[in-house]
Amino acid sequence: MGEGVPAPLDPLEQFDPEREDVACGPDECLTLVGAFDRVRQAFLEHHPQGDLELLERAFRIGREMHATQRRKSGEPYFFHPLAVAESLAHWRLDAVSVACGMLHDTVEDTLMTQAQVRAEFGEEIAEIVDGLTKMSKLAFTDKHLLNAENVRKLLVAMGKDVRVLLVKLADRLHNMKTLGVMREDKRRRIARETLELYAPLANRLGMGSVRMQLEDLAFRQLEPVSYAKLDTIIQAKQEKLSDTVEETRQLMEAVLAQNGIKAQVDCRVKHLFGLWKKMDLQGKAVEDIHDWLAYRIICPDRPSCYTALGLVHSLFKPIPGRFKDYISLPKDNGYQSIHTSVLLDSGDAFEVQIRTRGMHESAENGIASHWTYKDGRIANRSEINQVAFLRRMVELHQDSKDSRDLVANLKGELSFGRIQVFTPKGDLKSLPEGSTAIDFAYAIHTEVGHRCYGAKVNGRMMPLRQALQSGDRVEILTRPDHKPSRDWLSIAKSAGAKSKIQAFIREEERKHAIQMGRERFDRELRTAGLRFDDPELKPRFEQRLKDIKQASWDSFFAGVGFGRISIPKFIDPLLPEPERNRFKGESKKAVADAIVVDDTQGVLYYLGLCCKPVWGDDVIGYITRTRGVAIHRENCPQMQSESLHPERRITVSWGPTSKGNFDTELALATEDRPGMVAAISEAVQKLGINMQRFHAAASEEGGGLFHIALRVRNREHLLELTHALRRVKGVYSVERVRGSVFGKIK
Ligand code: MN
Repeated sequence: MGEGVPAPLDPLEQFDPEREDVACGPDECLTLVGAFDRVRQAFLEHHPQGDLELLERAFRIGREMHATQRRKSGEPYFFHPLAVAESLAHWRLDAVSVACGMLHDTVEDTLMTQAQVRAEFGEEIAEIVDGLTKMSKLAFTDKHLLNAENVRKLLVAMGKDVRVLLVKLADRLHNMKTLGVMREDKRRRIARETLELYAPLANRLGMGSVRMQLEDLAFRQLEPVSYAKLDTIIQAKQEKLSDTVEETRQLMEAVLAQNGIKAQVDCRVKHLFGLWKKMDLQGKAVEDIHDWLAYRIICPDRPSCYTALGLVHSLFKPIPGRFKDYISLPKDNGYQSIHTSVLLDSGDAFEVQIRTRGMHESAENGIASHWTYKDGRIANRSEINQVAFLRRMVELHQDSKDSRDLVANLKGELSFGRIQVFTPKGDLKSLPEGSTAIDFAYAIHTEVGHRCYGAKVNGRMMPLRQALQSGDRVEILTRPDHKPSRDWLSIAKSAGAKSKIQAFIREEERKHAIQMGRERFDRELRTAGLRFDDPELKPRFEQRLKDIKQASWDSFFAGVGFGRISIPKFIDPLLPEPERNRFKGESKKAVADAIVVDDTQGVLYYLGLCCKPVWGDDVIGYITRTRGVAIHRENCPQMQSESLHPERRITVSWGPTSKGNFDTELALATEDRPGMVAAISEAVQKLGINMQRFHAAASEEGGGLFHIALRVRNREHLLELTHALRRVKGVYSVERVRGSVFGKIK
């Protein structure tokens, strides 16, 4: 901070309410001191010998930097960093993390620079604050919540020091608790991001309590009606059954004590989002909720957990199929507990979770619960596992060119629970829930994955598609000549398997493109009267290759095969003057440069006439033998045909801007009334669109039926148009037509 900053003081000293440069009023200052005192207390509880001086310094400077700022609610801004720091202290994190909580918004929101943070607090804190600043700059837009580049940056920042993520989670938790004053669209966006990204990340770090808080807070924002309804129903049940619930609790505690187990039994309502999601999945109404209640038995040690389980099952009727032993087979995020569900006499079901004190703390606070250091690094097996997940994601995608895969894979990786599966030798592999033998094969080795043609599960042949269960013993059958196919992408669930299959298929597609490109090139050369193996032409061919900036013949042939390199362009300069341009027009494009394949523009392609894609539609590409890439809408029935070669299907996307116009046709069903035609054409013209063709008929039901062919700039333009048409009085429906109606109407 240089000369402007006073030497460290007793942090309370500067809160002289008389001080003039303090932007908040005296009461607020005292409250700030109170808030910092809570941070200190929480921190000291877990770190009696901790670095208080650092916290005091962070408090003083953070408060100074944020002095004049206020939150939307009107309170001094610094309350927010203090609340974040308090959470971190409660999570038992170290002084560095807690200090970062107080400083996390300084570089982002105040005049303080990265260099000043480094000068004042050293490299470690500067790096974490830098990671946080970068994260908050990531622009999450509504459409692409998890934009690929952002996710990559995020993972890199978190992978370096997981405390970046921990501070971010505390930040997000407090922001979610204080969303009330924000605009609705902003609130919803933040809530969605919380649900899709931060809650799953908290889960992966084993921080169950944070995950549930985040989910419930987001649920409340996103589905206020369902949330309120569920909340009311559960509260009513709680009141009605409160006596039974308490009696049951005491009964369990007493029976356990009689059997020599000094256990603590708690009871709580399950978290609302979890209940709601389950009902939603099963298509149940909120009123039908039964298993809303959970008891938790904290046992003194591991063996007594199993004794307790036996006692619970002798007291109540267990529900078959609901028993899970995560003590013997912990979840991948380290979670350990025995789960079972039983029935009360009242007919209400409840869940019982049995675990030791240590397991309980891990389950609540995950990575934060046994935070131990060696030189600032985490030194504990389960933590390393939890963090390894972040690094693995980064590594998996380091060389991947297509960053869209990363986003899809990360979402998959985050949204599943984990299962544990045995190899024939008894080794355990951990996989996302829903994983299949293909995931398992790739978890063993890439080559085992590529060559896998079948699997034996628990000694019996099973289809590759079948989901594995925790505890399954799986044997993979391989054949040297076997290869992955594109439909494996829908069978595989784990990020690892998916990215390896994707890489393999891309390579296959490339080989195929090289072969096709080579054949086409030979053919065109012959037409032009040239031969590739002509020794006299060889140097000129090589020169042309350099001219068009291709590193090798393979990359040239691949380019031709994918349709992104034009053969006439290559050949023309080799021909005598009068012969040139003979191919002109061959590579005429429907709309110049609108399509991108593998990050490359200038691909030879055409838009499918069957579905008429317009810029912005979800599209896929299909490599044709001679006309480059055919572009179809993703749901085009032509592309579902069995006779297509799956390996020629490729991912394509639209270029950054739409140039030119796209043909499209609409069908309108209307009321039969005079003036309908005029009203429709007026609506179309208002948007600056000229109708190419127009056809009106009476429908069988006695209404009007119109077909219009027109050109639009892009999908948004088209949507604007359909909206406008739907608003025209007397229009019942507006549909996009597949193919051309005008071909059939005479
Ligand atoms: Mn913040």
